[in-house]
Amino acid sequence: MSTERHIERNKKMAPAQSTIKSLHVAVIGAGAAGLVAARELRRENHSVVVFERDSKVGGLWVYTPESEVDPLSLDPNRTIVHSSVYDSLRTNLPRECMGYRDFPFVSRPEHDGDSRDSRRYPSHREVLAYLEDFAREFKLVEMVRFNTEVTLVEADGLKWRVQSKNSDGIFGDEIFDAVVVCNGHYTEPRVAHVPGIDSWPGKQIHSHNYRVPDQFKDQVVVVIGNFASGADISRDIKEVAKEVHIASRSNPSQTYKLLPGSENLWLHPMIKNANEDGSIVFENGKVVQADTIVHCTGYKYYFPFLNTNGYITVEDNCVGPLYKHVFPPALSPGLSFIGLPWMTLLFPMFELQSKWVAAVLSGRIKLPSEEKMMEDVTADYAIRDTHGFPKRYTHRLGAGNVQYLNWIAEQVGAPPGEQWRFQELDGGYVRLATQPETFRDKWDDDHLIVEAYEDFLRQKLIKSLPSELLESGK
Ligand code: FAD
Repeated sequence: MSTERHIERNKKMAPAQSTIKSLHVAVIGAGAAGLVAARELRRENHSVVVFERDSKVGGLWVYTPESEVDPLSLDPNRTIVHSSVYDSLRTNLPRECMGYRDFPFVSRPEHDGDSRDSRRYPSHREVLAYLEDFAREFKLVEMVRFNTEVTLVEADGLKWRVQSKNSDGIFGDEIFDAVVVCNGHYTEPRVAHVPGIDSWPGKQIHSHNYRVPDQFKDQVVVVIGNFASGADISRDIKEVAKEVHIASRSNPSQTYKLLPGSENLWLHPMIKNANEDGSIVFENGKVVQADTIVHCTGYKYYFPFLNTNGYITVEDNCVGPLYKHVFPPALSPGLSFIGLPWMTLLFPMFELQSKWVAAVLSGRIKLPSEEKMMEDVTADYAIRDTHGFPKRYTHRLGAGNVQYLNWIAEQVGAPPGEQWRFQELDGGYVRLATQPETFRDKWDDDHLIVEAYEDFLRQKLIKSLPSELLESGK
């Protein structure tokens, strides 16, 4: 649908100005999701308070060399370190498709002497700098209460109570019309169950607490998981370790091979068991005496502050019930979640979900009845079950990504996602899986980069094409 037709359609959707509501809204978190939520809520004339327990914007992308004292993060009373970013991390998606749709993630001028990373797959520092640029451009920081952790969110009649605690020990107890939860979901580790692990004498760490490889010098290390973080971290560690063994359930049961080009990185299927004598037995029958296991096994959705009297549950990483992964039918629109789906274009999704929430709260867009939303959730679960997907994949979009993003775009009257963006995502995933060593520096989709930049230029989101593109004549 053309942009003009969208504007026409929007005019038809919009109720009379007098019926538009301006609400007092709490946003939890000032990461990539919370920042764009705050912008969209304010654009829709809501008054917004963003609670952020850190002292900076950027969420996950605020790298710290600190990690949690408990390396598996199992102790519920531990001091939480939010970020899971490791020192060597570079993005796992090309930057053109990763950024917000109206604020492209392109190389920007330095600010305050920060040096910038213009690579297509830049380091985590560049993502943080981009989010800081975004916050500065849209004057978002003025809405953020830093060093303030939300400790309780619960319904109070038709409103929402938000309790918080700041770093000076001052407690807050406030009432809002609505709460938008943007607390991120890469901080609470999921640890693999390994038979016999309780008597195994070695060390264990989750990737959440991994920063640099130094501690693994000369060790034999088993890394569980071989998707984005597992692939990166095992390659980081192999530079200093004696041997690294990757255990992955996506490898066939007889897998045993040295990674091409490496002398000390082996691929295996999953671990069969761990033993008291320090040995680890893989399902292919191979045995290694290991010093450390690194769990690159993902994360759990976690909302320790949320009290919905059991209405919303998190079971096997399914947060529900949620209409389109955003609105809990019985608690809508006062409570909403931005950023739960994965295997998608995250920042553009945060942007679209935020526009939807902002417009629903103002009354410009109506949600279906509670019953209809529940029917939709039930139908969604049935589709998941028919395809044989486990419950923990409820929020995994994967192949449904285009349909989901375009459905929300349609709701909010935004143009559908750009083809080049979806093609970059798909191609990016294929390269990540098939050329894990080189995907960040070798690609064959230059034509998509050109399309992306021409698109940014056409929309006046950039002033000119980057010199590399002009020089290469592409
Ligand atoms: P976060 O960035 O985690 O922000 C949540 C914020 O909420 C934090 O600032 C936190 O302090 C705050 N908060 C939490 N609880 C409270 C509370 N109770 N009170 C107050 N504040 C609170 N995505 C990509 O698009 N490209 C990539 O290359 C990429 N690489 C990744 C690599 C790793 C290792 C990981 C783990 C994830 C990666 N992601 C990537 C996904 C990444 O999580 C998202 O891009 C995005 O940054 C998530 O934003 P968010 O705002 O949802 O969460």
